[in-house]
Amino acid sequence: MPSPAYIGRFAPTPSGYLHFGSLLAAVASYLDARSQQGQWLVRIEDLDTPRNVAGASEHILRTLQAYGLHWDGEVVRQSQRLALYESVIDHWLETGQAYHCDCSRRQIIAHDGIYPGTCRDRQLPAAADHAVRVKVSAQTLSFDDRLQGRFSQELASSSGDFIIRRRDGIIAYQLAVVVDDIAQGVTDIVRGADLLDSTPRQLWLYHLLRQPAPRYLHVPLIMRHEGEKLSKRLGSTPLEPAQASATLYRALRILTPQPPTALAAAPVAEQLQWAIDHWQPQRLPATRQILEPS
Ligand code: GLU
Repeated sequence: MPSPAYIGRFAPTPSGYLHFGSLLAAVASYLDARSQQGQWLVRIEDLDTPRNVAGASEHILRTLQAYGLHWDGEVVRQSQRLALYESVIDHWLETGQAYHCDCSRRQIIAHDGIYPGTCRDRQLPAAADHAVRVKVSAQTLSFDDRLQGRFSQELASSSGDFIIRRRDGIIAYQLAVVVDDIAQGVTDIVRGADLLDSTPRQLWLYHLLRQPAPRYLHVPLIMRHEGEKLSKRLGSTPLEPAQASATLYRALRILTPQPPTALAAAPVAEQLQWAIDHWQPQRLPATRQILEPS
């Protein structure tokens, strides 16, 4: 079977219920996929178990359904895939592309959070409270975001060798997201601009895994006031499935050019169809943050 030309995904972390900020990311990736006859997958990124909120993943999935955001295939949960991530880590430890590290958080903060490579050549053995870091090279990594344009970062000076398994044994987001996007054949990543700075680290992992990088589109984060991300404070109110039409219309007013007012009370399926037909992501502001229109 030929691989589909477009596979997109929404990958929420169940550290909270679905709120308006995360709905925007879900709707943007859904519209982008459906407007290109693509598949749209949902993956629950539940590796950071201490941060998982009971009932959050069920709430997220139920709310997506109520908003008409129907996904393709089975929902994937990262907590079920630990062996896959561990096999990549083991391989990199064997080939010397990754190493154990026992540095404390305080030591790293002293270097402004940029890891100076302290444990790179120490050959520390595996131990329960050692982190694992992947080595980065001195080169600058660049990509062309479909909205934000060219973005470049030199990993050596912006993060240094970064963590792929934390000291508490939890697999780091940066590793799991790349391993899964590759395993699921994801071609297009549409997500919030808060993840722009993570993208070069992820591109580095695609490079180490010898896989082509996906296309990226980072949509601006919505702010209530200057500098106040909507997912924080008031905006973190869980969405009510009963208000789906009104809330989806509010999302479309941000993501699409002038949705007709008659659409405000239409069923979600009709709202989404209009939005698929009018999806022009290049007309979004090419900024990391925007204020919600009044
Ligand atoms: N799980 C991440 C989050 O909720 C998003 C991952 C991604 O889209 O790459 O912030």
